[in-house]
Amino acid sequence: MKLKELGEFAFIERFSKLFDISSDHNLIGIGDDCAVIPIDDEKSQLITTDTLVDSIHFISAKTKPVDLGYKALAVNLSDIAAMGGTPKYAFLCLTTPQDIEVEWYDKFFEGFKLCCDQFEVKLLGGDMTKTSSHLVITVTVLGIAAKDKIKYRSTAKPGDLICVTDKIGDSVGGLYAYLNELPSSEAVEYLKNAHFKPHPHIAEGKWLAAQSGVHAMLDISDGIESDIHRIMEKSGCGAEIELTRLPLSDWFIKVAKEQNWQMWELAFTGGEDYCLMLTVDPQDYDDLAEKYALLFDKNLSRIGHITDQNELKLTFEGKNHQIRKRGYNHFRKSH
Ligand code: ADP
Ligand code: MG
Repeated sequence: MKLKELGEFAFIERFSKLFDISSDHNLIGIGDDCAVIPIDDEKSQLITTDTLVDSIHFISAKTKPVDLGYKALAVNLSDIAAMGGTPKYAFLCLTTPQDIEVEWYDKFFEGFKLCCDQFEVKLLGGDMTKTSSHLVITVTVLGIAAKDKIKYRSTAKPGDLICVTDKIGDSVGGLYAYLNELPSSEAVEYLKNAHFKPHPHIAEGKWLAAQSGVHAMLDISDGIESDIHRIMEKSGCGAEIELTRLPLSDWFIKVAKEQNWQMWELAFTGGEDYCLMLTVDPQDYDDLAEKYALLFDKNLSRIGHITDQNELKLTFEGKNHQIRKRGYNHFRKSH
């Protein structure tokens, strides 16, 4: 069977059985946003790694190197945020063609450093190899979290409200604006910025992880449509999401209407929002949302709830809804 027939997540499932660590209750390995290794009674080490490949995740000839450097680190920080941790150290591996201009890398590292400084992360090492093919950037980040505060994908409960920590869809809107070479406007530049310079929700994740009413959490990298399945699989539950509850920005709505995009479906399936999706005890939601809005000056939007049905049910203005396009999955378009 070819990898593309199996799909990314079934593939991970297939080989990860060989490395089962479920008997070691202290360790979390394959299957969450970060691996978790206990340090002592109070703290745990978080570790995550992510790869960006030229022509798959970005097009080097058309991407500002300063943005790419920033994003290569930011997407990893987002996985630390998803567990409620604080990022500390980074490692950077470059598999690089030799004909890239050194000045291009100067800009790349300027962006990488900007993100390091913003989130107080130190680059401690990495690796460098040449390739006759595309540029591949792999970043690994180590973080720290309070052991009893870490949130996982596996702890959602039927009845929980599904919430997101920011607007959804700006990143995919920016990607579409960029791919379709839409003429510059305030709205288009806002969307492109959201795509090229994602903001990991570190402070938000830490605060939310410390709240007992928050049950499960992950970051939205592949899109809600795909990522909600990660919570469903790990927690053994289902979900119901109302598309029109997705919080869309005014800029996204404006450009989507001008371009005739199916805005709700696009926001639902598009990836790289890099905000957090969490499940919340309904009794705690009002209090949590009020405090969140005061602290972070944005909304904790509820978009649906967890069910015991083992399937994803989508509604549009209360009526059952089917979508055509699906979230991102390497090797195949599926969950
Ligand atoms: P995320 O999008 O949060 O980075 P992924 O969906 O990429 O997470 O990965 C899901 C899980 O599978 C993670 O726990 C990740 O560490 C693990 N994983 C992915 N690829 C591999 C691999 N090649 N070897 C071991 N574990 C992997
Ligand atoms: Mg993640």
